[in-house]
Amino acid sequence: MSRLVVVSNRVASAAGPAGGLAIAIGAALKGRPALWFGWSGERTARFDGALCVRRVGETEIVTVELEDADVEEYYNGYANAALWPLFHSRTDLAAYDRSFSEGYARVNRRFAAALRPLLKPDDLVWVHDYHLIPLGHELRALGFAGALGFFLHIPWPAPQLFMTLPHHRNLVAAMFAYDLVGLQTEECAAAFASYVLGEAGGAARGDRLFAFGRSLTARAFPVGLDTADFQLLAASPTAVRTCDRIAAHGLFRSLIVGVDRLDYAKGIPERLQAFEHYLQAHPDMARKVLYLQIAPSSREAVAAYQALGDAVLTLAGRINAAWAEIDNAPVLYVNRNLSRAELAGVYRAAGVGLVTPLRDGMNLVAKEYVAVQSPEDPGVLVLSRFAGAAAQMKDALIVNPYAREEVADALDEALHMGRGERIRRWQSLMDGVTRCDAQAWRDAFIAALREARRKAAPGQSDRHVDWAARSLRG
Ligand code: ADP
Repeated sequence: MSRLVVVSNRVASAAGPAGGLAIAIGAALKGRPALWFGWSGERTARFDGALCVRRVGETEIVTVELEDADVEEYYNGYANAALWPLFHSRTDLAAYDRSFSEGYARVNRRFAAALRPLLKPDDLVWVHDYHLIPLGHELRALGFAGALGFFLHIPWPAPQLFMTLPHHRNLVAAMFAYDLVGLQTEECAAAFASYVLGEAGGAARGDRLFAFGRSLTARAFPVGLDTADFQLLAASPTAVRTCDRIAAHGLFRSLIVGVDRLDYAKGIPERLQAFEHYLQAHPDMARKVLYLQIAPSSREAVAAYQALGDAVLTLAGRINAAWAEIDNAPVLYVNRNLSRAELAGVYRAAGVGLVTPLRDGMNLVAKEYVAVQSPEDPGVLVLSRFAGAAAQMKDALIVNPYAREEVADALDEALHMGRGERIRRWQSLMDGVTRCDAQAWRDAFIAALREARRKAAPGQSDRHVDWAARSLRG
């Protein structure tokens, strides 16, 4: 079996809960020889490419440390202040600073130089997410000629939005170093192809795209959950205790839960406003429901995130000030991480999973909520049409997160839905969550990567050396 080499900005750490990407990758690495390469999350005074190596099961985990300027320009800058807002359709928040793109190109070169000596010719190299789009190109420039795949965990924007990125063409040209580009949904794959055909003078044959003197396969691979593992967690004593604690407060079924990193793409203020509208339309429910929003802070070094934290606090306070009584408050806002076992218990106790991002690559919280419901008495998922998950989870109550009345109506429908209807919808959602899990995602991607590599013209990887001199500045 070929070794799988996974590269992502951050690798799972022993400290603290991991995000959606690290959880999906962790599941994908199970049970096969693998190497996982990325940034340790630590800083060093001067980048020297020193490797920290440890082993977890069959996976060798190799990390490097980055300099302050790398973290500012590559991570907080180009990745999280330019690409993240742009790819989530928030061009108003995108900061296109030239030092950011230089830092981004530099760190990708540093990653490639540190990783290249570890690679064997028959490795399957799988690069993850928007932090590392040009990494494949840098590896080709250093002579790696093996199978090279890329998966984007966040959405690919519509061409007109993508073209607001300075030197957008060079970023896509660099992607043609990969044999396979995976996206979360058909819609994202179509947006990517549309750019290649419309703006890069490319051509298409099926899911094979031809441009920049090369070809690649671009397809949707919706990321899944480690469903069996998460269900085990839901049966753990911590999860059961958490669920019982909520039930003891008489909240079972009347609990509405939202779980997100504090990120503007998750639509938390809009969700709070929808809940406020619900209370205004149904004042009798103010004592009967509790909306629990769990949202730990994230990316606090980026300005847009600081303003968001304040907005959520203000809204939650405003709703409680208007609707609370001396022994009851309708909103509970928890601004910290819970353990995954606690989270599983909360999901199970909640009658409504309220997942309303304004834009999201997939959204694993929607799948986690479904995975741990009681088959005899499941809760109802209310899901944004703009989450990648909506393409698969059609039996959720699908809503437009910008339309507060529509979300409020869906909340009402969810809170009053009969058991038969809840079971029917949940069963259909659960079938998908079970079938399309993280292992199925990995297997589909790897099979497609082998196939795409076979289709690549012989010697085509050599041509990338021509591009090595090009930076993202054009
Ligand atoms: P993203 O990767 O953008 O954060 P996802 O919904 O795809 O969004 O994945 C988020 C992951 O982080 C999920 O696995 C979720 O359980 C976890 N998570 C989110 N908020 C918390 C929290 N407060 N405590 C623990 N885990 C959390």
